[in-house]
Amino acid sequence: MRVKIDPEVCQGHAMCFLACPQVFELSDEDGHAFVADENVPPEFEHAVEQAVRSCPEGAITTF
Ligand code: SF4
Repeated sequence: MRVKIDPEVCQGHAMCFLACPQVFELSDEDGHAFVADENVPPEFEHAVEQAVRSCPEGAITTF
């Protein structure tokens, strides 16, 4: 599984970070989320799916 965040859509709610801090990081500058590595380790796939569902903006896509 790979994951990406649309920076134009993300509003920095940090729900993704709360769901899976091992994959999602928050920018020190604007608080918006990013992923350092789009490849999701298998052990975090469930948490990333939770993050997708918890994002209020629908900014996270898995593929
Ligand atoms: S939950 Fe969605 S809107 Fe909030 S920081 Fe994560 S990607 Fe951005």
